[in-house]
Amino acid sequence: MHPFAYVAPGTVDEAVAVLTKHGNRARPLAGGTDLLVKARANVWELDAVVDIKNIPELMSLSVNGGGISIGAGVPCYQVYGNSTIAAEYPAIVDGSSIIGGIQIQSRAGLGGNLCNAAPSGDGICPLIVHSAVAHIAGPKGKREVAVEDFCTGPGRTVLQPGELLVSIEVPKAPANSGAAYTRFIPRNEMDIAVAGVGVLVVLDSSGKKFKSARIALASVGPVPIFAKAAGESLAGKPVDDKSIAAAAALARKAASPITDMRGTIEQRRHLVEVLTSRMINKAAERARG
Ligand SMILES: Cc1cc2nc3c(=O)[nH]c(=O)nc-3n(C[C@H](O)[C@H](O)[C@H](O)COP(=O)(O)OP(=O)(O)OC[C@H]3O[C@@H](n4cnc5c(N)ncnc54)[C@H](O)[C@@H]3O)c2cc1C
Repeated sequence: MHPFAYVAPGTVDEAVAVLTKHGNRARPLAGGTDLLVKARANVWELDAVVDIKNIPELMSLSVNGGGISIGAGVPCYQVYGNSTIAAEYPAIVDGSSIIGGIQIQSRAGLGGNLCNAAPSGDGICPLIVHSAVAHIAGPKGKREVAVEDFCTGPGRTVLQPGELLVSIEVPKAPANSGAAYTRFIPRNEMDIAVAGVGVLVVLDSSGKKFKSARIALASVGPVPIFAKAAGESLAGKPVDDKSIAAAAALARKAASPITDMRGTIEQRRHLVEVLTSRMINKAAERARG
C-alpha cells in the first residue's frame, strides 16, 4: 500500500484546499468502509487521505419543516435511528439499515455510499426516489446536483478535482406519500444486491389513485437508474394490479443489466419487474398509513 498523509481538517474550506492541492492523489475519508478496502487493494495511489469527520456541517443531521439535511459523514445508524426519518422517509431507512452489519453501519454513511458510486449502492435509490439533492463545495464555490444525476459510471461521479460532498438535502415527503426499498441477495444479509428497487408513491386523498411516483433501480446498469417513465406511468391511475404491472414492465425496460457472477441479464430483468411491483404495493400501503 502506498504511504499517504492523514489530514483531518476542521472546515470545508481547509478540506477543499487539501483536495485541490493533491488533485486525484487525495480522497475524502468518511467511514472508510469502501475507501480503506480500495486503498489496500491499490485501486488508487494516494498521497493524502482527508478525514471529513472533524467538519461540523458534514457530521450534522438535521430535521426541519422543509425536509432533512444529512451531512456527508453521518453514519447510517444515526440516519435510520432518527424518529422523523423513520416516520417520513421509510425508503431511506430501508436502504441505510441493510448496508453491511451493525459494525459497518456505525461507520459508513449515505455520503460515502453515494460518492463510492457503486451501481449496487443500497443508499442511493432511496435518495433518488425521495428527490434528494447533493450539496457540493469545491475550489470554484458551491453547487447542487440532483442525486439521480450524481453518479456517472461505476465508481465515477460528477465531483471534480478538489470537490467535496457536504450534505444530502431531502425535501419534505409529500402528503399521502409512502416509499420503500428492497434488494434481492442470495443470502439473508451482508451481500451485494443482484438487483434493488426503490419506489415513492403519492396517493390522492381517497388513497385509491396514484398522483405521482418515482422509481429507481440498483445493480442493473452502470449507475443507479432513475426509471422516470415507469414512475410517471402511474400518475392518475388507480392503485390496482393492472397499473402496477404496467409500471413494473416499464421499470424492467429501463434496466440495462450485465451478466456477472451474481446474476444474469435475464434474472436481473425479471427481478426488477417483481421487486418493482412489490415495492409499489408496499409504498402504497405505507402511504395509507
Ligand atoms: C463488510 C462490508 C459490507 C458492505 N455491505 C454493503 C451493503 O450491503 N450495501 C452497500 O451499498 N454497501 C456495502 N458496503 C460498502 C460500504 O460500506 C458502503 O458503500 C458505505 O456506505 C460507504 O460509506 P463510507 O462512509 O464508509 O465511505 P468511505 O469509504 O469513507 O468513502 C467511499 C468513497 O466516497 C468518497 N467520499 C467519502 N466521503 C466523501 C465526501 N464527503 N465527498 C466526496 N467524496 C467522498 C471516498 O473518497 C471514497 O472514494 C459494504 C462494505 C463492507 C466492508
